[in-house]
Amino acid sequence: MDTPIPFSGSPLDREALRRRDRAWLEARLVDPASRYLPVWQAKPLLKREGGPLRELAWAKREFFADLDTPEPVLLGSSGGVAHFAVDVSVAEKPEVSFGIADVASFDDLRAAVALLPAADAAIAAHARTLVDWHARHRHCAACGGHTRSVSGGANRVCFDCQAEHFPRTDPVAIAVVVRGDRCLLGRGPGWPAFMFSALAGFVEAGESLEEAVRREVLEEAGVRVGRVAYLRSQPWPFPSSLMLGCIAQAESDAITIDASELEEARWFSRDALRAALAGRRGDLTVPPPFAIAHHLIRAWVETDAGEER
Ligand SMILES: [Zn+2]
Repeated sequence: MDTPIPFSGSPLDREALRRRDRAWLEARLVDPASRYLPVWQAKPLLKREGGPLRELAWAKREFFADLDTPEPVLLGSSGGVAHFAVDVSVAEKPEVSFGIADVASFDDLRAAVALLPAADAAIAAHARTLVDWHARHRHCAACGGHTRSVSGGANRVCFDCQAEHFPRTDPVAIAVVVRGDRCLLGRGPGWPAFMFSALAGFVEAGESLEEAVRREVLEEAGVRVGRVAYLRSQPWPFPSSLMLGCIAQAESDAITIDASELEEARWFSRDALRAALAGRRGDLTVPPPFAIAHHLIRAWVETDAGEER
């Protein structure tokens, strides 16, 4: 259960206190030691090396000095060096205009995560979510006025009505539903062949995590759920979810799928899932390790996670 969850575990100190000090922040913004992660249309800049592994391509301020970018957001610091993310989406053909086509590229994080060191994946997830939120919250939700970034991008404030707006995190309940030695997984329309995963859905307003699991599983698969045990969570930066992973105890067996949500749902044995996790079963694929569903399935297969005691 100690396997790190991809997209979590950033090594940066978020500087919760110092980031509110405008003088300190401005000094960091012009400090030649500060590092900037350029993000273009939600894609972080990654080094393009010879081998299959990638890493974040940190830049100096001069890299984007000619562009009219939003103020960089402070991700945190490490070893006394400030690390920012900067939205360079205004650039056209950025790899060409920045002259980096041979050494780096802006890449889709979901596609690249498996190739990134864990720390880089976590930093990129933080950067992607925060840059995206700022880009979509330039206007006040209360009065429509313009907003500005404050505290190094920790939140935004309206110029007109002074309302404060904070980056949103959308909770998603995701659960492997178990009954005895069997586990319920589903597959969505258009998924890769043989791929099954844990059932998931957004937690709705006025709903606990446990209630969200019970509602989602009943809606999607027609299965009644009793006890719900929270296991672990994962930030999911597409764009701003927090996956709340649970093991849920089913109280009924019969499956009735909601065809608008699922193409199929099925009960699988521990042995079948063990084989799928090991890549040994041709007719069943489970999500790869960058998805929390993989870790939930593994937790149930390998331990007694979520079992009634
Ligand atoms: Zn306002």
